[in-house]
Amino acid sequence: MRLSVVVPCFNEERGIERLHAALVAVLPDITEDFEVLLVDDGSRDGTLPAMRRVCVSDPRFRYIALSRNFGKEAAMLAGLTHATGDAVAIMDADLQHPPELLSQMIELLGSGYDQVIARRTRQGEAPVRRGLSRLYYRVINKVVDVELEDGVGDFRVLSRRAVRALLSLGEYNRFSKGLFSWIGFDTATVDYENVQREQGESKWTLRKLLNYGIDGVVSFNNKPLRAAIYLGGLVTLLSFAYAGWVVVDSLVSGVEVPGYATTMLGVAGLGGLQLLFLGVIGEYLGRIYYETKRRPHYLVKESSNGVDGPAAVLL
Ligand code: UDP
Ligand code: MG
Repeated sequence: MRLSVVVPCFNEERGIERLHAALVAVLPDITEDFEVLLVDDGSRDGTLPAMRRVCVSDPRFRYIALSRNFGKEAAMLAGLTHATGDAVAIMDADLQHPPELLSQMIELLGSGYDQVIARRTRQGEAPVRRGLSRLYYRVINKVVDVELEDGVGDFRVLSRRAVRALLSLGEYNRFSKGLFSWIGFDTATVDYENVQREQGESKWTLRKLLNYGIDGVVSFNNKPLRAAIYLGGLVTLLSFAYAGWVVVDSLVSGVEVPGYATTMLGVAGLGGLQLLFLGVIGEYLGRIYYETKRRPHYLVKESSNGVDGPAAVLL
């Protein structure tokens, strides 16, 4: 069995050597026939030179460098596209995904699974934080059609069949947590302890997390649009009822001082609601706009194999 390990890297210059050492310590015991595919996601530090060095010194390591920072989703896609293994593992460059877990995961894959997921336990995290994320996942699973699990990230091993399935999904907005779940197949889970990052820093800002959360909701169904219809309908009914009551009231007891407060309430309430749902509709429209462009997810600038063919660039 040939194993590929795909590692997306963005500004990880100090981590590449460590990653190489950690991987060559475990991979040869799993299989002699492995490759590690480093994907440079447009790093602005010395990541690419570090990759070149590692790949020259160790031919089992290959790299692809994207033409700019396309985001982790695109970098993973690039890696999956170029990986040649019968089994493909995806892991982070910062060793927050412990490589020692790989042998157990590959073994499980060999016993008939198509996806083996590593699940991070939230041991040692503040109870408030733990509770909040549990609540988040309970809510989001009510909203989206695919099953999303707490602590499950991109650390996983896929069979060739699962990789082919993932690559067949050509959408521009890739919310891979959902895509992994969407393809289905038999899935096994392995738990591991949360590891803190040692080198460099996390690329997740609050804004990125928030956007990711919105992606999670709108990438997989149109329930927010449905909610807009229901809520809009309800508000319309209520305001018609209110208008009817105003007409009857003024016929029965005559017109008094025009109600400034109620007018403002109506205008503000309806205005807010309309803006909110215009935003929801705009979100979907924006997605359609991006999908219709059919742009490639990433462009390759350079790789250890020299120039890549157009098929590799235009997935
Ligand atoms: N990453 C990437 N492109 C990006 C951001 C991150 O390829 O635009 C890589 C990064 O180098 C790392 C992995 O994705 O290997 C996870 O990133 P990070 O450790 O910052 O995320 P966290 O562990 O905090 O969720
Ligand atoms: Mg990390």
